[in-house]
Amino acid sequence: MVEIKGALEIIRSQRVHLDSEVVRLKDSLDRVLAEDLRAGCDLPGFNNSAMDGYALGGLQQAYKIVGEVAAGDSQEFILKKGEAVRIFTGAKVPEGSSAVIMQEKTEVKENLLILKELPKEGQCIRKKGEELNKDELVFSKSYQITAAGIGMLGSLGLHKIKVFKKPIIQLITTGNELVAPGESLQAGQIYESNSGAIEAALKSKGFSSSASIQMEDDFELIKTGISEALENTQVLILSGGISVGDYDFVKQALEDNGVEELFYKVKQKPGKPLYFGRKGNQFVFALPGNPASSLSCFYIYVLPLLQKLSGLPGKGLLELNLPVSKDFENKGDRPVFLKANIDNNWVEILNAQGSSMIGSMAKGNALAHVEAFEKIEKGSLIKTLLIS
Ligand code: AMP
Ligand code: MG
Repeated sequence: MVEIKGALEIIRSQRVHLDSEVVRLKDSLDRVLAEDLRAGCDLPGFNNSAMDGYALGGLQQAYKIVGEVAAGDSQEFILKKGEAVRIFTGAKVPEGSSAVIMQEKTEVKENLLILKELPKEGQCIRKKGEELNKDELVFSKSYQITAAGIGMLGSLGLHKIKVFKKPIIQLITTGNELVAPGESLQAGQIYESNSGAIEAALKSKGFSSSASIQMEDDFELIKTGISEALENTQVLILSGGISVGDYDFVKQALEDNGVEELFYKVKQKPGKPLYFGRKGNQFVFALPGNPASSLSCFYIYVLPLLQKLSGLPGKGLLELNLPVSKDFENKGDRPVFLKANIDNNWVEILNAQGSSMIGSMAKGNALAHVEAFEKIEKGSLIKTLLIS
């Protein structure tokens, strides 16, 4: 049995092999750069106007208007002292311009421009390269692309970028009692709900499973199922059958498939019978079958590894320290992860904390952490992992 910290340390310290691929910039949201990106051009690429107004040759009270430049015009003016051109936002500022003045601060009499106030040298001109110079570093390798990142790279003219590949994931649920939702139940059977929950959790964090298989509690079947899954997967996630019951065959089946155990059992509630193993560059998590345990373990332990396998640091869920809305005491000797809801920066610990109860988790957005035998008073800070 390992402590929570130790289990996370084992996961985070895994050396991982990362492959890269080229994707369209449009499809790169949340992907992670596999190389440093340098600017292929200056940004902006030419001096341009920040306002609708007039570009001014020299700084004085009145000017002769000699023409007009709109955004996108390639026409070249060279302004002499005392000359001005009508100019619009984003238009190329003519050579010889001392400043641009916004139109609201001017008056036009026939062909004469009169300023209501004098601008400063360079005012309202966006200088070539003022944001970024050609060859300057735009984003370092491991940068995770945001919407603004897509905007930035688009403004530099990039339409394809090299990112780390996402891990190939497969899911196997085990249990004789499990029946797919939509079918009818016989006595003793229950609906299989973990695959749906884990697939959705994967999706919400930017991943997907390439296959999802349901298996009976049959040692040979499970052993073969694991062997086949390992032919083409980087992360195999199993649910159920990892405890100590007579029908829990997953651990032995993994061992027989040459998977090396990295830890088995974590001192925590829920999710004690959690298994993590490795075979070469492939990783295996066997999650306890109870629905709330399996989903909690996914967020706390599987997510950091998936992040690492996508080129990220693998920090897992965002951890917040927030005040708790009522007293709570953990009377047990294991640290707990509690289904909780963060609302208005307060943490509410929800009712129905049982490992099998997924409904309370469905109403919350977080997991609050309390140490063994720890007593927390209303208003004091509690460590909380934000799910969404
Ligand atoms: P196990 O870890 O296989 O001992 O299962 C623990 C509990 O979780 C049992 O009550 C199972 O019926 C239930 N369970 C296991 N797998 C699933 C699943 N995929 N969906 C819903 N409940 C499950
Ligand atoms: Mg089972």
